Parts: sequence; structure tokens; C-alpha cells
Amino acid sequence: MHRLYEKEDLSVFWDSDKCFHSRKCVTGCPEVFDFQRSPWVDLSRGEMVAIWQTVSACPSGALTCCYNHGISIAFDEARRRSVAQDGEKEIGYCLYRETPQGWSIDSTRVDAAYGGKGIAKRLAYKVLEEAEKRGQAVIPVCSYVAKLLRPSEES
Ligand code: SF4
Repeated sequence: MHRLYEKEDLSVFWDSDKCFHSRKCVTGCPEVFDFQRSPWVDLSRGEMVAIWQTVSACPSGALTCCYNHGISIAFDEARRRSVAQDGEKEIGYCLYRETPQGWSIDSTRVDAAYGGKGIAKRLAYKVLEEAEKRGQAVIPVCSYVAKLLRPSEES
């Protein structure tokens, strides 16, 4: 399961396949991370620094985070994609197709000038999250997403 949580200038990613339930997040920032609650992550309950430190202490890599750098990410169902925008300017996207086997995620692109900011990962997680919530299998044609989904990979 892949989930993307956002708060002001922070995005937190969770990959449940990597979580081995050390509970470091729950003890480190219990108001934010609570497995008894749904959704189990509520970034509005904590301060940025405390959340960042707690996520950084996750021993499995299941929790990761990045700054948003003022870039917004939205799911655009009509155009079968997630899209990244810097104000009015579109600076990236992640495209998928609906197939009988599930959602084929075909490409992820971010303007070169915006590289290294975690935008591709946010775009990919936005589509992965939507696919999973709708019970759709994911077919990772996009090499970036395929790499993201490999058990030992992270980017
Ligand atoms: S700290 Fe990481 S590995 Fe431990 S419970 Fe939280 S998400 Fe899972």
C-alpha cells in the first residue's frame, strides 16, 4: 500500500510493504502516527520538525518525506494523470491508462529545472494511492515507477 500525506511544505510517503512495525513512528510522534486511527497518519496534529525527525528515524524506509518547495500535486482523473504545478505553471505529470488488467502507469516526467525535489515520487504516489484505493492492480511500465515498486528500491 502506498500513501501520500501532505502538510504545508512537507510530504510524507508510506509504503506499507516495507513497514516491519518497529513502532518508532508511533512512539516518536504519537499524535501524528496512530495505527488505531484511520487514516493512521494525520500531519495536522504535529509540527514539521518533529514529523521530519520521526520519519527520518523509521528503520525500514517505509516512511520517507520531502519538502514541497511550493509545488502542488493533484490527481486529474479526467486526463488520467497526476500533475505537478508551480503556481499556474505545469512542471510535471504521471500518466496512466485503464486496462482490463489494471492501471498501466506509463510515464512520469518532471521539468529538468525542478529535479531533485521529490516531485516525481509525489506524482507517482498520487497515482499509486488512487489505484490502490479503487482496487486496481498497477502495471508499472514507467521505469521510474517500476524502480519505486521494487522491494529494495527507494528514490
Ligand atoms: S517507524 Fe517505520 S517500520 Fe516502524 S512502524 Fe513506523 S512506518 Fe513501520
